[in-house]
Amino acid sequence: MFTLNNSKTANRELMREMNTKLVLNLLKEQGLISQVNIRNKTGLSSGTVVSIVRELKEQGFIKEVGSGESSGGRKPTVLSFNSEAFYIASVTFFADETTVAVLDLSGNIKKKVKFSTEIEKGKEALFKKFARRFDSLLSKLHIDRSKVLGVGVSFEGIVDYNKGALILSSRFGWRDVPVNEMIEDECGLKAFVEGDGRAMALGEYWYGVGKGTHEMICIDIDSGIGAAMISGGNLCHGIHSMEGEIGHNLMVVDGPRCRCGRRGCLEAIASGWAILSRVREELRQGRESKISKLVNSPPEHKAIRYVFQAAREGDKFALQVINEAGHFLGLAIANAINYADPGLVVLAGYVTYKSRGMLLPIIRETVKEHTVNGRLRTIRIEEGSLGENSALIGAATLVYQGVFGITSSSCISP
Ligand SMILES: [Zn+2]
Repeated sequence: MFTLNNSKTANRELMREMNTKLVLNLLKEQGLISQVNIRNKTGLSSGTVVSIVRELKEQGFIKEVGSGESSGGRKPTVLSFNSEAFYIASVTFFADETTVAVLDLSGNIKKKVKFSTEIEKGKEALFKKFARRFDSLLSKLHIDRSKVLGVGVSFEGIVDYNKGALILSSRFGWRDVPVNEMIEDECGLKAFVEGDGRAMALGEYWYGVGKGTHEMICIDIDSGIGAAMISGGNLCHGIHSMEGEIGHNLMVVDGPRCRCGRRGCLEAIASGWAILSRVREELRQGRESKISKLVNSPPEHKAIRYVFQAAREGDKFALQVINEAGHFLGLAIANAINYADPGLVVLAGYVTYKSRGMLLPIIRETVKEHTVNGRLRTIRIEEGSLGENSALIGAATLVYQGVFGITSSSCISP
């Protein structure tokens, strides 16, 4: 769609391509806009705008939706972005569950399907299963494959975005997996992979609570704990794609043993895995508590609700565990704020959502206490608004970004 050639006109074409992307993203951002306003907001000449709009109309990206208010002369035609001109596929690979979805160009999920990941069957089997589920979604939605721009992929682990590969996933027990290549071989569409925490951050930044906040940190409080930072509207990766590993910040010297082998990491105190390990162990040792014995059986993301439920009923032990987890999360977040100075901290992950608002005030209070120059800062700490869909929606934005070359949904001045 926007490919370059090597002819003498390459520079002119590059300029044209950039201008086209500019107009397209302005349309996506504004929803409804006239050609005059496109001209005013982009600074492009009238002739350029007319010709780009004509081309985008022919490609199906723009629809005419009536006339606007006249400022003297002829009423201007109002244009709108056609979210359904094309579609984007998205898949999130988590160790226990994989979700496949088809989204429109505005991040709306048209349909999604979940299946058990079954790591033990291997990579090839997993990617083939994804391709079959994706095919069946397309046929249920009556969408032709040629209408799908690409596949956004979120993978639980450390991902090298530029290489399109999974470097390491301790939950999967896999390393050096050429994810993009394998997905492309299976479904014939361009793939863009990112780590799960970064995909969540992107989702919240483009379409969730972070919309318009170009300096933000998203904390994924899940079985493990990780952070992803957006600075200047761009995702940060670090030189080894390991930026944001706050789950392994040392919080308590000689504290509980962490899955990384060290002691006293944040993840060993405040993650879903750590909370449940502690609760299950102390209940086994006869600790008195209203926490249901059912907490021992289901998978983590389901079991954790018994802990929050007991805390809401005033159970002392449950309250102690949750207060301590919230306190240490708050300390780690205050440290991150002191370092990175964001405008927003988004809390995501199943522990956040299953807490139904219980963790937020504890974290806010601790952050307030331990952030330096707090009075000079304006920081929001909020739960993510996309819930469990954040990574799925975030992964889809990778395709939009890859195809249209824009890193932020809101980078054009209003
Ligand atoms: Zn650790």
